[in-house]
Amino acid sequence: MAEMFYDADAKIELIQSKKVAIVGYGSQGHAHAQNLRDSGVEVRIGLRDGSRSTAKAQDDGFTVSSVADAAEWADLIMILAPDQHQRTIYADEIKPHLTAGKTLAFAHGFNIRFGFIEPPTDVDVMLIAPKAPGHTVRREYVAGRGIPDIIAVENDASGQAWDVAVAYAKAIGGTRAGVIKTTFTEETETDLFGEQSVLCGGTSQLVQYGFEVLTEAGYQPEIAYFEVLHELKLIVDLMHEGGITKQRWSVSDTAEYGDYVSGPRVITPEVKENMKAVLADIQSGAFAERFIGDQDNGGKEFSELRAKGEGHPIEETGRELRKLFAWKADVDSDYVDGQTA
Ligand code: NDP
Ligand code: MG
Ligand code: MG
Repeated sequence: MAEMFYDADAKIELIQSKKVAIVGYGSQGHAHAQNLRDSGVEVRIGLRDGSRSTAKAQDDGFTVSSVADAAEWADLIMILAPDQHQRTIYADEIKPHLTAGKTLAFAHGFNIRFGFIEPPTDVDVMLIAPKAPGHTVRREYVAGRGIPDIIAVENDASGQAWDVAVAYAKAIGGTRAGVIKTTFTEETETDLFGEQSVLCGGTSQLVQYGFEVLTEAGYQPEIAYFEVLHELKLIVDLMHEGGITKQRWSVSDTAEYGDYVSGPRVITPEVKENMKAVLADIQSGAFAERFIGDQDNGGKEFSELRAKGEGHPIEETGRELRKLFAWKADVDSDYVDGQTA
């Protein structure tokens, strides 16, 4: 059984006594910064020159400086900029100020696991990863609840790194829900696998194929959208509440029987073999190399793939439909429906 931490396990003063720099003020950044501040922690935000996020962080009442100045000021530096930019931010602005006794923290282990960042041995290196998008991390905290975190320590120079990580997790609301102990390697590899195979990659492809099959067979795109995308949320909510069993309990017997006989025809054992190949590329570093290699090439492949995804017919159908319905719900983020990145 995994080792868990709750509110009572945390000594919150261990984080309240530290000056915390949050690098980046995006999805995770704004949530960590605001939750930490509400928990009595002194926080400053580090952003690049001319950052679009500066006004937002200042409007929210934070002191904003360059990443270098924030890193110099802070005892604990939490990097919440996009993973592909972290190695450059680290080398140029953080490393010179990462003096002995400081703490370097992450919300995802990518750059440590694949060696893009190699911190000195006299600093603590830790991971506090909420298992939800930042806007949910903030919303749940404000509601008096929390999102489960997973935490890891890569280097414990102070001898207190685990206690500090638990205290940080408490300050962002994580210990209200429960915090699980992991390692940088396990967090990074399972996170990448989950998002690539099931949550993002697998689900997106499944939905697109389902939409294509129905519309190519002559059914109306609006009906296809409801059947393969809109209702997905309702099914996932049931799984989230009570596992696959609750979902099967709630749907009709017809749907449940169809699940048993047709699910394995669609997702064949070959798909499991493909998933193993995806995992092997994650473990070997081949995925990380491809992602960062493309970034070094100006992110050309990334841009092309994004444009291709945004051009899929299901996106246009959904955009038009969502305008017409009262259930349009996505009000709690900076995302504007139909925006392109
Ligand atoms: P975002 O894309 O939301 O972060 C963008 C922020 O980083 C913006 O404030 C942006 O500022 C800033 N930024 C971008 N480039 C730089 C730079 N060169 N120097 C300084 N700041 C910069 O990131 P996320 O919150 O999605 O991800 C942050 C970390 O959290 C990642 O490690 C990710 O894997 C992890 N994570 C994310 C989750 C999520 O749900 N999003 C969940 C759990 C972990 P600007 O306005 O200047 O562009
Ligand atoms: Mg991830
Ligand atoms: Mg149906």
